[in-house]
Amino acid sequence: MIIGCHVSLSAPDYYLGSVKEALSYDANALMIYTGAPQNTFRKNTSDFKIEEAKRLLTEASIPSSSVIVHAPYIINLANTTKPETFELAVDFLKQEIDRTRQIGAKVIVLHPGSHVNAGEEIGLDRIVEGLNMALADNDDVEIALETMSGKGSELGYRFEHLAYIKSKVVKPHLIKVCMDTCHMSDAGYDVFQFDKLLDEFDNVIGLENLRVIHLNDSKNEPGAKKDRHANLGYGRLGFDFLYLVTSHPRLSSIPKILETPFVNELPPYGIEIEMLRSGNYIDWISQE
Ligand SMILES: [Zn+2]
Repeated sequence: MIIGCHVSLSAPDYYLGSVKEALSYDANALMIYTGAPQNTFRKNTSDFKIEEAKRLLTEASIPSSSVIVHAPYIINLANTTKPETFELAVDFLKQEIDRTRQIGAKVIVLHPGSHVNAGEEIGLDRIVEGLNMALADNDDVEIALETMSGKGSELGYRFEHLAYIKSKVVKPHLIKVCMDTCHMSDAGYDVFQFDKLLDEFDNVIGLENLRVIHLNDSKNEPGAKKDRHANLGYGRLGFDFLYLVTSHPRLSSIPKILETPFVNELPPYGIEIEMLRSGNYIDWISQE
């Protein structure tokens, strides 16, 4: 099982600290933001202790394909109304792609974007335009477009949106997908028919294009278009379903990354990873 979680990247050890944090949870995969997810302030990667981190990853037999970078949410490539916002997004994504390469990772997860009332098709075409610009000088780092819940004017809540983007860009071989279990359910997919869902994904995009899974329970009922993650077993999806995804033979090579909420201001990942590795649910959060 390849299981990891979102880990922080912060002073003084930065990327080395991220790897240490992941190992402390018994994770064999990890996901980082190269800075705060909600802004564009970034430290120089020369401070990241990359070589020491890489050594630690090798010692733990964690391949670079199990290290995932997530682009900040503020990047909106679907923006058609403000040219300066779009340009900023493209420019920043380019820098994020460079940082992903610098730490030695191969995949960056990206929320496709929100069309902000321009309409879905116009938004999707704008994303294609933005990706073409951002990928112009890149031939190795892959972009994994995330399946979204469809809240607001978010695009990417249908597999078809992602397939459309992939089919239109100049470098389709660099466009991959990140499935989010919470988002797919919130978007209205019947995730409990999981093999059928994988078949549909395979028909529309191709299962070989799946790079990473965000494994989250959902606070909301299927189709709610809400996007609120819950701890494993404390939402509408339930532990049995999430364990099935983690242990599914068709997905054995895909890293599963937890983005579940902190409990009493502490990361829940150690116990959640233990639950997934053992297959045994633990009712560990007191509900007052
Ligand atoms: Zn995401």
